[in-house]
Amino acid sequence: MDTTLTRRSFVKWGTATAGAAALVGFTGCAPGGDKAEDTSEGAQQKAGEWLNAPCYNNCSCGSSRCLNRVYVEDGVPLKIRTDEESEDTFAMPQRRSCLRGRAKISEVLSPARIKYPMKRKNFSLDNPQGELRGKDEWERISWDEALDLVAEGIKKMYDQYGPTGILCGASSNIGDGYYDQNVCLLNALGGSVHAEAGTVSFGSWAVMDTHMIGGFGMSNTPHHLQLVTSDLHVLFGCNWAANKAGNHTLYLEECRKRGAKVIVIDPWLSQTSQMVADEWIPILPGSDTALVIAICYEWINAGTYDQEFLDTYCIGFDGDHMPEGAPENASWKDYVMGTGYDMTPKTPEWAEKLCGVPADTIRALAAEIASVDKVDFNCAQSASKIPAGEQFVQSFYTMALMHGGIGTPGHYFGWSGVKEFMSSGIGTGAYCPVTADPANPLAPAGSPVYMYYPIPSFPTLEDPDSWLNLEPSECWRSILSGEYGRDCWPTGKRKVDIHAAYFGGHMSTLNQIPDTMNGIKAVRAMDFVWGVNPFFDSTRQYCDVLLPCATFWEKPNKAFGGDYASALWYDKIIDPLYEAKYESWIAEELATRLGLDPKVVNTLSDAERTYATVRDATYMDGATFESSTLLTIKQEEIDQFFPGVEGAPQEGKFTFQEFREKGILKAELSEDLFIPEPYMAFIADPEGSPLKTASGKFEIYCETAAYMINSVGYSTIAPIGMYQIGDPEQGAGTQTDEYPLLLWTPHSLRRAHSVNDNVVSLREAFPQECFISEVDAKARGIKNGDIVLMTSPHGKVLRPAKVIPTLVPGAVAIQDGAWFQIDEETGIDLGGCPNVLQAPKSSGGGCQAWTGTLVQVEKYTGDLTLEPDKNRPVVVPVGVE
Ligand code: SF4
Repeated sequence: MDTTLTRRSFVKWGTATAGAAALVGFTGCAPGGDKAEDTSEGAQQKAGEWLNAPCYNNCSCGSSRCLNRVYVEDGVPLKIRTDEESEDTFAMPQRRSCLRGRAKISEVLSPARIKYPMKRKNFSLDNPQGELRGKDEWERISWDEALDLVAEGIKKMYDQYGPTGILCGASSNIGDGYYDQNVCLLNALGGSVHAEAGTVSFGSWAVMDTHMIGGFGMSNTPHHLQLVTSDLHVLFGCNWAANKAGNHTLYLEECRKRGAKVIVIDPWLSQTSQMVADEWIPILPGSDTALVIAICYEWINAGTYDQEFLDTYCIGFDGDHMPEGAPENASWKDYVMGTGYDMTPKTPEWAEKLCGVPADTIRALAAEIASVDKVDFNCAQSASKIPAGEQFVQSFYTMALMHGGIGTPGHYFGWSGVKEFMSSGIGTGAYCPVTADPANPLAPAGSPVYMYYPIPSFPTLEDPDSWLNLEPSECWRSILSGEYGRDCWPTGKRKVDIHAAYFGGHMSTLNQIPDTMNGIKAVRAMDFVWGVNPFFDSTRQYCDVLLPCATFWEKPNKAFGGDYASALWYDKIIDPLYEAKYESWIAEELATRLGLDPKVVNTLSDAERTYATVRDATYMDGATFESSTLLTIKQEEIDQFFPGVEGAPQEGKFTFQEFREKGILKAELSEDLFIPEPYMAFIADPEGSPLKTASGKFEIYCETAAYMINSVGYSTIAPIGMYQIGDPEQGAGTQTDEYPLLLWTPHSLRRAHSVNDNVVSLREAFPQECFISEVDAKARGIKNGDIVLMTSPHGKVLRPAKVIPTLVPGAVAIQDGAWFQIDEETGIDLGGCPNVLQAPKSSGGGCQAWTGTLVQVEKYTGDLTLEPDKNRPVVVPVGVE
């Protein structure tokens, strides 16, 4: 590789790069490569500099953040290393990047970058010709032309339709670096309609955590130093090697080294299972509730559960511990043993028919778990993403509560991997303080928010008629049909009338919510669609006007929150490429054109925001549990790194200089540190330190949750965790001759959600395939590598088949996040996007119920040719250079 590129030649090279293959070599991953070359930091320092660029992928809901260090010479990023300098111990491990993090040079410099402001050739505000979205050619326009056009479009849409006619496909302020002041612009103009009713990431855990266990379950999962106190780890799903990469799988490996056993229950032998599982139990996707209930049946039958724990800390297990007013025979025990509800004993044979796990295996599993005292029950978020998934959450928690011991070492339950809340910790300041920026006037006051996301609560809404927030799964169908909600709402189904959309916030909305084909239909029917993004991804391909913004590498330096035990420092790596601008600049320019004070849409300068991330960073001491200032910052450092900001010198635990030089600060942790157990205070004094549930105890029978879910109307659930087919067209038990297979969508090692799908080297390493079992492939005459057509009632996807023996028959998988690429003639997606297939099923508390969509797979005999992913050119705008 020629490392003598000048900055000028670098930009020119980047501009000229149209083919994907030209970038493959730029996935630098030092050390390695040419042995004759000295790649040490010391040697490279002489010619260029190593800068800090922590991986910004949201691969794991905040469980991982890894350090990347980028070697930049004359403004050209050439190599990437990771966290290699500090000692690597179990207590304080290195935060080493996975391949997705180390491929960031290729992502940032991808030919998919939007280089200039552009407009669709056949678009005008008077005659949008929306049917051409996604197929039209593009033309380059100046920033002034683009901003004038977008401002004119926004004004026209607000004048004509008002705020309720605009869909905002960018998240509201969620408090970290993923931030787009253009959302503030819409808020300042009167607001816009969001599709954030319910959780996108957290599945059905969010509502149940609040009502059943009294708070944010994420905060009560074990610290990684506590994980080794368990003798058995029972994981439902949890492919941590892909979705909580970084160190989670290594923590499990450490547990095994110290004698613990790991059992994984999962439809396939995942990468994590291959690495750490002692035992793998295949199960049909989305059917875990039946298995869990049968395990509880076995325990009740054998008397191998902790009755004393249940009597003391829980309500609802048996008839003697029910809340006042509960009906007769309505306890968990009644349901499981067949003395209540459907009067059916939930035997292993009953479960086998529903989940596919042989009855004898269930009996052996139940006995094995019961024979071990210290058990850690962990579960994937996706296991709850099924119709009425709250019932699975309830049954899973109930199983762990029956096993007992919660609040003491080795006894845990959780769904978000390990979290470092309970000991020495580091927090960074807020980049976008929620109180500083304008809120969406259309967001109704009074609805409960579960882990960032609101769901309607009509009894508590000040004005029940004010609820206007679409459930994401149903978003496109709601827009197409002109109504959303449920008949049981106080006003019945409500009207929605969308004519324009904004797609920004580094989110690929069309790609990442279900029912993509209807999404395309809805977007093509709109009057005006504009986007802000660094990349010409599948969502931006369907816009009318595109404004290029900078990647994280091109933004001002700042502190970045890690995994609660570390903070990372972000250097500005390169200047914005081509004509990219910051979102803040774009929003202010649009505001000015729309007659608004730019300060209203962007209340703080970029320097003020980045300064706040270091100024307000804190350190919690794991020995004293006292919080203090993290960083000593000198006045000259404020002046140099945050120009124009008014700030005062401060004293902290580490120096700002050390932070910048190392790129990472880690909380001091050691294995002899005392770490409070989750729920310890409640267990020690249940009366004095009650849980924040209605009863103050763990609620196996949870009336408030059932009330909340049933009043929203997406699902109907019982107060206990019953097995049910939550939707007649989704999940195990609903398969048909036409659609006999169950789809699930594990995370990919190639992407973090949709991020990185433009990286050719990762496309080559991890092709997007249809994973199918040997049994189902044979029945269809499909061989490994054959091109297959995956069909659901909602769309069609073409993919190569990966026939594997380690996948449960009856299920197929395709990994999440691939960018769709629709063949206009046939409507078939050549990109492999699972949301083309996914059912628009909202459930419970507004959960995306996408595990168990019904599909068929057949050998493809049509005329389309599917190139291997690595050879498929990255889509670039046609018509501009
Ligand atoms: S994708 Fe996740 S695990 Fe991989 S480098 Fe980035 S933050 Fe780390």
